[in-house]
Amino acid sequence: NTKVLFKSVPEGAATVDNFDVVSEPFDLEAASAALTENKVLLKITWLSVDPYMRGRMRKADGPKSYSLPFSIGEPFAGHGVGIVVKSKSPKYVEGDAVVGFIPWGNYVTVSGAAITRKINIPGVPDLPHETYLGLLGMPSFTAYVGLIVLGKPKAGETLFVSAAAGAVGQVVGQIGKRLGLRVVGSAGSDEKVNLLVTKFGFDAAFNYNKHTVIREKLAELCPNGIDIYFENVGGATLDAVFTLMNVHGRIPMCGMISQYNGAGYGIKNLGAVISKRITIQGFIQSDYLADHNDAFFKWMFEHGLDGTFAYEQTVANGIENIPNAFIGMMEGKNVGKQLIKL
Ligand code: NDP
Repeated sequence: NTKVLFKSVPEGAATVDNFDVVSEPFDLEAASAALTENKVLLKITWLSVDPYMRGRMRKADGPKSYSLPFSIGEPFAGHGVGIVVKSKSPKYVEGDAVVGFIPWGNYVTVSGAAITRKINIPGVPDLPHETYLGLLGMPSFTAYVGLIVLGKPKAGETLFVSAAAGAVGQVVGQIGKRLGLRVVGSAGSDEKVNLLVTKFGFDAAFNYNKHTVIREKLAELCPNGIDIYFENVGGATLDAVFTLMNVHGRIPMCGMISQYNGAGYGIKNLGAVISKRITIQGFIQSDYLADHNDAFFKWMFEHGLDGTFAYEQTVANGIENIPNAFIGMMEGKNVGKQLIKL
């Protein structure tokens, strides 16, 4: 049984030295016999690595945040899919495929409360299990909440989304097109930019590594200004956006990945928030689950699974490859959702 443990707090970007991949003998019968009430033994088949995990790789006594720091010497944990091997929970039986919040190991014991849903939803067509970590999972829910609930889009408006070829961004753009918006995206390579336009149906896109005077390129691609900016990266991109926002524009603030390793960019154009009466709303997707998850599923079943919705994912094989997959995702090596197949 291989596990991935939090070894040390990164200084700047995470490196493989911050992870400990440990293998130990595993006795399935003994683990099954040791199971206590309401616990479930899972064989993990898919795990998700996500940018917010960098924020959890911090000191236990460091600044507080919405999510707890990972504990040194303990497994990382995140969204994942597993098959129930043994259950002492009344809700699950052997063979159930489930999605939940799961420690990183091949076999793990979790409480029934850590499981979010069974995958075999009655009345829903069979889908590849990893769909529930991507297209029907947390990243798409984030896109849905940020754009539809907080962005308050109106047909004909201009939407700009950064990290547009990632797990969240690809869905934001495609929802935007279905709502009749002009959709513009930015990403870190020409390959991704090409994908945005040819596969995801964006109206325009640019490579921020090539067009470093972001304001100029954005002004060219958004001739009517920006009504909604779906913020994923922060820094110079956000600063440029402020200068191009329309009056009463909305900025759902989802993430600031350019700042996660401690870059600390000083925004210069914040005054635009007043002069243009911009609404900025920071959000954490999980706060919206209770009120919006059903509507999200309904929307995605009607639109996201209609055969016209494109979805990209990058898959790393084997739990031992999690550290490099996470580091690569933070550097932009992923296209679409980064997943690990066990
Ligand atoms: P992605 O799949 O988009 O992967 C991260 C991407 O960020 C990379 O592929 C890379 O793409 C881009 N990136 C990395 N460094 C930089 C940089 N310095 N400047 C600009 N772009 C950079 O991840 P997700 O879709 O899962 O997450 C996107 C954002 O949404 C993140 O900020 C994340 O924290 C946030 N998020 C927030 C949630 C919430 O509840 N608020 C929930 C889920 C995600 P590229 O090649 O284009 O540079």
